[in-house]
Amino acid sequence: MANVLIIGAGGVGSVVAHKCAMNSNVFTTIMLASRTKSKCDRIAAEIQEMHGVTVQTAQVDADVVAEMVALIRSFKPVLVINVALPYQDLPIMDACLEAGVHYMDTANYEPKDVAKFEYSWQWAYKERFEQAGLMALLGCGFDPGATQVFTAYANKHYFDRMDYLDIVDCNAGNHGKAFATNFNPEINIREITQPGRYWENGEWIEIPAMSIHKPIDYPEIGARESYVLYHEELESLVKNFPTLKRARFWMTFGQAYLTHLEVLQNVGMTRIDKVQFQGMDIVPLEFLKAVLPAPDSLGENYTGQTSIGCQIKGVKDGEERTCFIWNNCDHAETYREVRGQAVSYTTGVPAMIGAMLMLTGVWMKPGVWNCEELDPDPFIEQMNRQGLPVQERINIPLPHEY
Ligand code: NDP
Repeated sequence: MANVLIIGAGGVGSVVAHKCAMNSNVFTTIMLASRTKSKCDRIAAEIQEMHGVTVQTAQVDADVVAEMVALIRSFKPVLVINVALPYQDLPIMDACLEAGVHYMDTANYEPKDVAKFEYSWQWAYKERFEQAGLMALLGCGFDPGATQVFTAYANKHYFDRMDYLDIVDCNAGNHGKAFATNFNPEINIREITQPGRYWENGEWIEIPAMSIHKPIDYPEIGARESYVLYHEELESLVKNFPTLKRARFWMTFGQAYLTHLEVLQNVGMTRIDKVQFQGMDIVPLEFLKAVLPAPDSLGENYTGQTSIGCQIKGVKDGEERTCFIWNNCDHAETYREVRGQAVSYTTGVPAMIGAMLMLTGVWMKPGVWNCEELDPDPFIEQMNRQGLPVQERINIPLPHEY
């Protein structure tokens, strides 16, 4: 039915390309383009071998709008799936507007020189996309992405009013490396070393990074120490569900990971300003990324599961009720299916599903949208079909107590 152009050939881009190829009734022609073409070629060869589908490849610097426009005009996609880095969001949105195609991504825009996550820059494109009759779907990975769909699903089916939301994200996997991040190290470390923030009684409460933590019980995994972080989907969720009195995001970290991170911070390796080194300007965090394992190299010996979900408390028919919706995903199984680890998989599969719902018209509407603003039911149905089964528990004590 449609040509699709995927930008970014990292851990997530690879999963998106595999899953689009596995749904070739919807994604009739696929192009994978990135800064380093050899990575696209390697993924295309793997897809040819595993699924018998040809994926075209190209080199592009997505920071350069003119290069993106030229690529879009030559390949003629209906939709661009941006799974490069958050820095590329605005140039790719500009290119989509100029060339007249739909857009989607999995992470909100960040300027390179300040670690600042907010939707304002991308929401500012709403009128331009509307007027062009084009759609931009923002943050359609797992978190952001599926977590907003879960919240919208709970709101639609189980609550008259939602009061408390806790998004709980656990990676209980073991990749056997001393220190590695599961998605792009630069973006990951910028996110974790930020002050934490959560929503309470109509305002943002800022806390020192990693200062609130407690064990949370995860299905099939058990209790894991979990830390309150700021995560971008909180911004759109509290806007779209204004009854929420509190909304928080929790993520697990092992002690060894935190110790490495503390040392790296203490010695200045997580700095994002330029320093002089042998007559050159270098950014320590960019250098650190270059020496850490790439997220797409972790899959082969990864064992264990991820568990990500939403714990919600609210009111239905005048009675208090709770709801927990989640997915568990196994690293070794995702590696067998698409040669990717579960963090890339849980991001790439929702991205493919969002693209599928846009291209088949189910989620298509002009403007700029976050995932919770669209009908959650077809998304959940596809998660169950595409390798991310959704589980739910209603009205039993939540694994995380309030
Ligand atoms: P990787 O670092 O593995 O891959 C990033 C890819 O983007 C690389 O192929 C890189 O190319 C390419 N790229 C970078 N800059 C450019 C550019 N200017 N032009 C073209 N291509 C470029 O990252 P991941 O795959 O782990 O993550 C991808 C995205 O997914 C990130 O934005 C991340 O924040 C997001 N994410 C979202 C999650 C969610 O649940 N919503 C969870 C995890 C990740 P090169 O190889 O040349 O460097």
